[in-house]
Amino acid sequence: MAQRPYVVGNWKMHGTRAMLAEARAIDRAAERLIKVQVALAPPYTLIHATRNEAVLIGVGAQDCHPADGGAHTGDISAAMLKDAGAGFVIVGHSERRADHGETDADVKAKAEGAIAAGLEVILCVGESEAQRDAGEAEKVVARQLEGSLPQGENAAEKVTVAYEPVWAIGTGRTPSIDDIGAMHRAIRKKLVSIYGEGAGEIRILYGGSVKAENAAEIFEADEVGGALVGGASLTAESFLGIIAAAAEGLQG
Ligand code: PEP
Repeated sequence: MAQRPYVVGNWKMHGTRAMLAEARAIDRAAERLIKVQVALAPPYTLIHATRNEAVLIGVGAQDCHPADGGAHTGDISAAMLKDAGAGFVIVGHSERRADHGETDADVKAKAEGAIAAGLEVILCVGESEAQRDAGEAEKVVARQLEGSLPQGENAAEKVTVAYEPVWAIGTGRTPSIDDIGAMHRAIRKKLVSIYGEGAGEIRILYGGSVKAENAAEIFEADEVGGALVGGASLTAESFLGIIAAAAEGLQG
């Protein structure tokens, strides 16, 4: 992998200003761990403050509306996120797909809106437990990639893919290292078939119950270019253990 490993914390609907101390601590430690690209996606309300507090790490959002602006009460556009200091946005997280009925087409529109506004995109894909049990995991993920990857000039350069099996998110369960590697190889193949050879550079993150204790092993799986981390990104202590494992295991 030509690029540095990428470790991103998704704070979900957690965090008030008191949590900025964690962001500061993560940012300070990132100085020592320069082999790893580190980022946080706090809730909207903390993006601007996190950007101001953190100098080295990336700061992004967890979702955006596909349109530039307009009569969409309660929504936030990618241009607003950029103005608040975000450099990227997560789209297609399974919690958004489940809680808000987001389809692949919705996710694609969000990704394309984000890129047009100058943001990078982390696109989440992943199968449910029933789909894995039915032997359909790779087929489901391939379909999600076909339907939700952004198109357009330079789109491939702006995208990171996060493979997050739905049944592994927040459950403490993870796929086997072989299964993670097999899925990441399948995703790479699909990316190359959609974007061409340049897709070899797209980082594919694993997400789903990554902790300091299992990170080193996960980072050894084929084609794993980093991690998207939920629960274990909420404190500097737990998140830094994952970042340290990436610094040791994934030689960028
Ligand atoms: C996530 O929600 O993106 C995630 C990976 O959560 P957790 O690490 O808590 O499983």
